[in-house]
Amino acid sequence: MLAKTAKWSLIHWVIAAAVMPAVLGWWGCASVVPPGSFRAVKEPRAGRAIGSRVAVVYSKHYQINLGGLEKLHPFDINKYARIYLAMNTEGLIEPRDVYVPKPVTEEDIRLVHSQAFVDRLGDSEAVAGWLEFPALGMAPAALIDVGVLNAFRAASGGTILAGREAVKHGVAINLGGGYHHAKPDAGEGFNVFADMAIAIRRLQSEGLIRRAAIVDLDVHQGNGSAVIFAGDDSVFTFSMHEGDIYPVPKEKSDMDVELPAGTDDEAYLAALAKHLPAVLARSAPDIVFFQAGCDTLAGDPLARLAMTQEGIVRRDAMVIDACVEAGIPVVMVLGGGYSDDAWLAQLASIKRTIAKYSLAGRAAHPPRAATKAERIYTK
Ligand SMILES: [Zn+2]
Repeated sequence: MLAKTAKWSLIHWVIAAAVMPAVLGWWGCASVVPPGSFRAVKEPRAGRAIGSRVAVVYSKHYQINLGGLEKLHPFDINKYARIYLAMNTEGLIEPRDVYVPKPVTEEDIRLVHSQAFVDRLGDSEAVAGWLEFPALGMAPAALIDVGVLNAFRAASGGTILAGREAVKHGVAINLGGGYHHAKPDAGEGFNVFADMAIAIRRLQSEGLIRRAAIVDLDVHQGNGSAVIFAGDDSVFTFSMHEGDIYPVPKEKSDMDVELPAGTDDEAYLAALAKHLPAVLARSAPDIVFFQAGCDTLAGDPLARLAMTQEGIVRRDAMVIDACVEAGIPVVMVLGGGYSDDAWLAQLASIKRTIAKYSLAGRAAHPPRAATKAERIYTK
């Protein structure tokens, strides 16, 4: 027993030593752009977007950082940063165009999650299970909180901010989020906080929206969203996903469409074209949260659909353009996508959206020189 205790203590110290520089770095860094320095120029009209411009939401705090340990997880945790960096280097966006969110608060979290969930945030083994990352179960809870949970809090705050900005500008893209497996009592499938549900509840409580729809095109069913909004007529959940993979069993969304393994671009887009108008008509939403997971791509290690990058761009365009044409604010969150080129497909899709609708940030804010903190991303 003693030997076992001593061994575990050693593991704790090794993990602590690996993680501490990251933790200190976290505390020592200023945010990319001070929150609140970007304010939209007009008040929103609840239920209908004022314009059709794109607000891009991101914070460097989305990045999970465990001093390198995080690289042991199969999920490409650099996806968000990669997309943001490429948007900068390709001149698609500048740091001053970005809407930088505040992290979700415990009050936000409690809009959707239970007391049992909040209590388990301090339980390393529970969180490690949600993240499907057993090694994390040995780490002190305080380190997981700072190195991992803060990233999820930041990205989930981004989905709330994207919701507010979509109501003002028409379109908002959170370069993260889409944690559709998280349920009221527990995280699941690498998801901790149910960011879309939290954002919907927050916007409803602020009177910005009454009704919402979730259009979930990640290859995995949005089982968490289905559970959270079961029996709630104000939120319509639509999930189109591969039928024979996780989660098993499936939950019941308001509308589920199951696709067989091997579904290619044409079959996928035909199914979406068939069902999307009915989703928007039946839900009559004041806002759409679009979970744009691109694990529908051929070669994804966790699924077996056969879409191409071009197919992803066409798919996302179909959803965003339908919302804009109907005057429905739309929030795109990135969701899953675990193949090496998943981030490229999402970058191509975001490029198309910005090219078509142009940036809200650039229109709303006069040009100014980037601050030193902002230039971190433009080297
Ligand atoms: Zn997925």
